Amino acid sequence: MDVTVTLSLVKIVTFASLSLLCWAIYAGLRTEPALAWLAAAVLIGGVEVVVLSQLQSSDAELVVIAMLLPLAYLCVGQSTRLMTRDLRQYRLLIGAVVGLAAGSLVLLALDVPFIYQTLPLQMACGLAILESVWRIVRRPDRSWLDIALAVALCAVAGIFLVRLPLFPVLFDSAASYQAVKTSGPETVLLIASGLLTPLVVFLLLARIIGGVIARYRMRAERDAMTGLLNRRGFDQSLARMPRGGGTLVLCDIDHFKQVNDRYGHSVGDSVIRAFAELIARTGCCAGRIGGEEFALILPDCEARAAAMVADDLRLAFHQGMHDGIAPGHRISASFGIAEYAAGESIEAALPKADRALYQAKHAGRNRVVVYAQPVDATEACCAAA
Ligand code: GH3
Ligand code: MG
Ligand code: MG
Repeated sequence: MDVTVTLSLVKIVTFASLSLLCWAIYAGLRTEPALAWLAAAVLIGGVEVVVLSQLQSSDAELVVIAMLLPLAYLCVGQSTRLMTRDLRQYRLLIGAVVGLAAGSLVLLALDVPFIYQTLPLQMACGLAILESVWRIVRRPDRSWLDIALAVALCAVAGIFLVRLPLFPVLFDSAASYQAVKTSGPETVLLIASGLLTPLVVFLLLARIIGGVIARYRMRAERDAMTGLLNRRGFDQSLARMPRGGGTLVLCDIDHFKQVNDRYGHSVGDSVIRAFAELIARTGCCAGRIGGEEFALILPDCEARAAAMVADDLRLAFHQGMHDGIAPGHRISASFGIAEYAAGESIEAALPKADRALYQAKHAGRNRVVVYAQPVDATEACCAAA
């Protein structure tokens, strides 16, 4: 078995297993179209290798390559486009890639030397791949996986683009397809692309699946109505917080049941959203830990400074107008604040802040209360508003 036949066989088995893997994961997850485009790209690559292994004429091989290879890389581009959620149209790129691939077919029809026929085709593939690279690297939240994928894609694009100067330098215009294909440099390039293609597919697969998991995790940790962390997400954030000391703030909308009873549940929902929006604007780690109860963490912040932040929130909420609420009806919220020392767990501050919140409710609501250590078994709380 010569080296070309062996290479084709390895490629066919690799493409078939990769395509099967992508389709199987796509069928399992169902919700990720980026996987379907990747699976389509691998399938087209596999079909190309199978067809090429059956063809005898070099002209027919070029036609198949020109029609299928750029198409496979456009599918990879569509996959990265969906993966990165970059949904801008890229008709110009599709036009350029298809035009260049068609250029190779025109050169074939004009019977120009073989090495010139292939050049537009190489350019088409290089262009399609570099567009995916550009889309991945311009993401603001790039991970190491994105970088690895971009590097691998650049290497594949390089294999196509290096042929542009290499072919005219290495081969004279009479060189046949067979002479080029079996030459040393082209064999090296084919082996390199044979090794890089599965790497790109694996990296892309890992990146797409990683994105799906991150989205599910985010959904599990976020409150759908307000976008803040939910109880579970907030508890997990507490566990991850550095133990450097800070302040915990608990807030609860006052007489919220009456809001629901008087104006209806959907107006109540919009009041909750408005309060959550004010909380989110503080930029602190914040969560909706109950129906109309929220919590904020202010690391490296003393209770006095936290009380000022909470009082700003209280005022903004109390003075704000809410859709569906009678103009004279001012809604308010109460706040309980407790410090936690360096090395102390934030969870330990929860009952203290809760106690301060309880005091705020009992003192008439619409106020901020800072928890103070009980002195001689007497609890002292000071109202900051
Ligand atoms: P307090 O001032 O003592 O906090 O009184 P409250 O009425 O705010 O407290 P209570 O715990 O009696 O009532 C809270 C209400 O919040 C009861 C519940 O129906 C309502 N609630 C909980 N979650 C939601 C929600 O997502 N949307 C709406 N509209 N109401 C909610
Ligand atoms: Mg309440
Ligand atoms: Mg409550």
